[in-house]
Amino acid sequence: MSKVQLPNTKLFINNEWVESISGKKFKTFNPTNEELICEVSEGDKEDVDKAVKAARNAFENGPWGTTMSSEERGRIILKLANLIENHKEKLAQLETLDNGKSIVSAREDIDFCVRVIRYFGGWADKIQGKTIPISSEFTSITKHEAIGVVALIVAWNYPVMLLCWKLGPALAAGCTIVAKSSEFTPLTALYLCELFKEAGFPPGVFNLVNGFGATVGNALSYHMDIDKISFTGSTITGRKIMEGAAKSNLKPVTLELGGKSPNIFFSDCQIDHCVEAAKDYVFSNNSQNCCFSSRFFVHESIHDAFLALFTEKIKQLKVGDPYEESNNLGPLVSKQQHDRVLGYIEKGKSEGATCHLGGVKHQIDGKGYFVQPTIFTNVTDDMTICKEEIFGPVVVILKFKTVDEVIKRANNTTYGLAAGIWTKDISLALNVSNKLKAGSVWVNNYDNCLPQVPFGGFKQSGIGRDLSEYAIQSYLSVKAVTIAHKTLHAHQQQ
Ligand code: NAD
Repeated sequence: MSKVQLPNTKLFINNEWVESISGKKFKTFNPTNEELICEVSEGDKEDVDKAVKAARNAFENGPWGTTMSSEERGRIILKLANLIENHKEKLAQLETLDNGKSIVSAREDIDFCVRVIRYFGGWADKIQGKTIPISSEFTSITKHEAIGVVALIVAWNYPVMLLCWKLGPALAAGCTIVAKSSEFTPLTALYLCELFKEAGFPPGVFNLVNGFGATVGNALSYHMDIDKISFTGSTITGRKIMEGAAKSNLKPVTLELGGKSPNIFFSDCQIDHCVEAAKDYVFSNNSQNCCFSSRFFVHESIHDAFLALFTEKIKQLKVGDPYEESNNLGPLVSKQQHDRVLGYIEKGKSEGATCHLGGVKHQIDGKGYFVQPTIFTNVTDDMTICKEEIFGPVVVILKFKTVDEVIKRANNTTYGLAAGIWTKDISLALNVSNKLKAGSVWVNNYDNCLPQVPFGGFKQSGIGRDLSEYAIQSYLSVKAVTIAHKTLHAHQQQ
């Protein structure tokens, strides 16, 4: 932990570090030992106004929004990717300090940030409209223009990675940005600000106003001069943001929300391979993962063998100091999250499910918000732990008999973020993937997010997509220009 370098903790507006207008600060804690890490400037509505003005000015009058070529914009974005790569270890150390995730996971997050920013840097000069031939008299063209000033609000589970998922397409499209990270994990976004400056982004292109959801987040949602809002967080907050957008200037929203994702293991799946893979993904990031496969549906013919092997593998996972590379699970992000997860475990027991493994907290010298990886069996679909998003290391194992039954039960949720299918039968996999109501379906792999592949939810898991070309579309406005040939011809003859 001695290696961790703390960033500047003020607000970042117009490429400058400034105190919040109120002078207020909030505290961020280390979930491993419950100690205060530092205090961070707390923004409010007036600070949001100031940041939006800076972003508007950069968009309307600065080089980024006016004279800079798309090629130059791409070059600066690629430089940011290189800088993130050069600062990988410092960013990872800081993320582990603030969030509690294992250092191995934190490094993976930063690697993914680099890939995502690089992917979108490559897009900057490839965003093109169309030519639409109408008749001998008219031609129409479409121009894909940056939508304007965008607000990016993200959750605490992948603090810097989720921000990069949104920064990449917003910057490639040519937008300017006011961002807010979670009040639980503000530090890596603050670190990023210096890299923005060093990469050569003009003032006002990227602004960061940290603070609370009810103040900064609310001010962004209701702001009349923000053209789009992209959010990752809970479904409850997503609703509030959409309401703010609707009641202000009708800004479009991208919402990446919660999940209760099914993971289906058919009778022909190779159990040892499935279980080995599951050991790596299921409790990674302490399962504080929106596409966490919280509901395992295992065919009845392999259920007992699967459960025995899975239990054996999960027992090998180590909970402890997240800076220790051999540990798999660190603490949960906060006391609030820790108590919430333990509350769900108690609820599972009281509703009659069997706590097959774990189900208890873990501490180092009486400190830290750790929870042991937990497996529930004898669970019915109507139990709370099978319906609600726990957002912690709690998985339920369910038995199924038929394909139709498992599709129906997998879809029996208000969410629709992700799903997994494990089988050697490719036509079965295709048939089931067609019927699952989920934005991402992984066949014989899971949680395999890629820069080139869209990510987002069906139903109450969200609206719109992060990552891929699809994400860029949501930061663009399409302008159609229709040209009459005749007038042009007549004009030329004069
Ligand atoms: P949260 O909704 O409480 O907070 C997310 C962000 O929204 C924070 O920055 C918070 O300050 C802000 N916020 C809170 N209230 C607000 C308001 N009224 N107006 C505007 N902003 C407000 O979520 P969380 O607890 O930080 O994160 C956990 C949730 O995020 C889980 O439900 C998880 O599934 C979801 N998530 C989804 C994805 C995805 O891509 N679909 C990814 C990660 C996390």
